[in-house]
Amino acid sequence: MVITEKERVRRLVSLPEAKPGWIRRLRQSRVAIVGIGGLGNASALYLAAQGVGHLTLIDPDEVEPHNLGRQILFGPPDVGRPKVEAACRTLRFIAPDISLAAEAAALTDEKQETLLAGHDVIVDGLDNWEARLILNRFSVHHRVPVVFAGAIGYEAQVYVVNGGKPCMQCLFGDDGFVEQSCALLGVLGPVAGMAGTVQAQEVLKLLLNTGDGLQGRIWTYDAFRNVSRVVGFTPRAQCPVCGGKEHEYGR
Ligand SMILES: [Zn+2]
Repeated sequence: MVITEKERVRRLVSLPEAKPGWIRRLRQSRVAIVGIGGLGNASALYLAAQGVGHLTLIDPDEVEPHNLGRQILFGPPDVGRPKVEAACRTLRFIAPDISLAAEAAALTDEKQETLLAGHDVIVDGLDNWEARLILNRFSVHHRVPVVFAGAIGYEAQVYVVNGGKPCMQCLFGDDGFVEQSCALLGVLGPVAGMAGTVQAQEVLKLLLNTGDGLQGRIWTYDAFRNVSRVVGFTPRAQCPVCGGKEHEYGR
């Protein structure tokens, strides 16, 4: 059965703020998702379903059995396959008309230009700070918005660095990163999905220039206590990444 794009996103363009060019704007957009774990699985699914025209999926890993509880693009036959390939197969089923690129590579300083250049928005689906630092620097230096997120235990967080101040390092400080691992602390599957879904929501808002974004603000959710908050954060004068530069966040 042939489904037109207009039929697919009819509920999106029924929103009161919708403008005539929304479908075309999404179709012409290019989004990179760095890390296809719990966060990247959820964001990729919604971005594909909503008609974002091109997705680049970046992840060097293969699907492992313990991924299946929360990485909902994968099934048992995918174990041992590259995550980017398995994810593309599901996304092609969900949204046959969009363009997909699979990059089975890790984000490094050397590869950042090759992997990230030419995208309108970048999604952080990473599980380590070192690669997030690369994304943060790329955002500030190239003025490309990055939607960051984290999910561990029962807690999720999402914030946006919109190509300027304040950046991720303003929020966490130079040596304030405490490396936490889902392997050690666990994570409730839907909490990772919730963070990834909020990321997809922020990407769509950035692409469509609608709503209040999370630039300079961090959204946190504690599923254990059912508490959600949005707290602002400000640029740091001595920030080694964005401090002293003239970039300003905003659209
Ligand atoms: Zn900064």
